[in-house]
Amino acid sequence: MSDRDDLPPFDTRWNEWPRPDDEAIREALLRAHEDGSWGRYHGPNVEQLEAKLAAFHDVPASLSCASGTIAVQIALRGLNLPDGSEVILAAYDFPGNFRAIQDSGLFPVLVDINPRTWCLDAETVEAAITEKTSAVIVSHLHGGIADMPAIREMADRRGIAVVEDACQAPGAKLHGKRLGTFGDVGVLSFGGSKLLTAGRGGAIMSERTDVMQRAKIFCERGNHAFPLSELQAAVLIPQLERLDETNHTRHSRVQHLRKLLVSWEEYLSPIELRADSTPAFYKHAWLAKNQQVAKSLVGRSEAIDLPLDSGFRGFTKRPDSQARKVGTLSSARNAASQTVILHHPILLHEIEAIEWIAQWISRELDAMVAGGFDANS
Ligand SMILES: *Cc1c(COP(=O)(O)O)cnc(C)c1O
Repeated sequence: MSDRDDLPPFDTRWNEWPRPDDEAIREALLRAHEDGSWGRYHGPNVEQLEAKLAAFHDVPASLSCASGTIAVQIALRGLNLPDGSEVILAAYDFPGNFRAIQDSGLFPVLVDINPRTWCLDAETVEAAITEKTSAVIVSHLHGGIADMPAIREMADRRGIAVVEDACQAPGAKLHGKRLGTFGDVGVLSFGGSKLLTAGRGGAIMSERTDVMQRAKIFCERGNHAFPLSELQAAVLIPQLERLDETNHTRHSRVQHLRKLLVSWEEYLSPIELRADSTPAFYKHAWLAKNQQVAKSLVGRSEAIDLPLDSGFRGFTKRPDSQARKVGTLSSARNAASQTVILHHPILLHEIEAIEWIAQWISRELDAMVAGGFDANS
């Protein structure tokens, strides 16, 4: 239990997402009501959103769907991979990605992540390739960005396809190019906690017309089987229009927070940010010095509604019958037990909120160090 002095000195409702005071969303909802599009199978909004997504990413086409989870599956189907072939994914990743491979009649191969970026490296993926390998799923996680040019070059040389999961990094750029456009097919999520949200929803995009064509056919069951609704599309359009601006604000808040915590990097090591990139922060990750530090911080933050969470559980414990495992997967294992992530809504708040969080984390770590790490665990 925390005493009241521990609570932040302002009422920010800092975890609330989507933000309750969003005028642009209110207007979009009213417009969808007035023009009747909210209740139609087909209307102007989905079409407009897909066109805007394609233009924003500088790709020929995008296809919206019901969730990021189903988008990964649609992407795999669009690639037309041989039945039973192997798809490489990180042993630390979004849970649904493992299942999407299985549900597409393919077999997951687990490889380790880069412990500094929480993402896959080209060399690790290449070392796992066999004659059965047909594709790799590369996710940009927790503010980290995978080295897509290296992965693209390797995948082309080895003849495997790349699904690029940009669900946590919409709008982010590497060398000026949007994430989600390096792979054969890119995936976005519009889930209720995501940076672009419609409560539910997702999309794929690709420069390959054959992939988009097969994806459409997979979804078509006399009607779109996994659709995004007109109402959902209506609220996404204004969010997409201001995404670069909100990403910029979140980035500058994260930089400030990292600066304030720089003396604690031995205990909380921040995710590596690339100089040649414009990141997006759905989460910001640190790797705690050990599991006890991570658990203690996450546990203590709950009492004051500070949005610090643990990371994914990862797939390292899956039985060998479900996946081929390459190497020790030790970084994925560490990430599963030592990741501390800050959830994004706070990053659009005033700078004082960031300063308060930095102070709170510093105080907690101070107390842990003083208590020989036994405190509050
Ligand atoms: C959220 C997320 C998904 C799935 O998106 P949903 O819309 O929630 O189904 C997939 N991959 C990653 C990395 C995610 O963070």
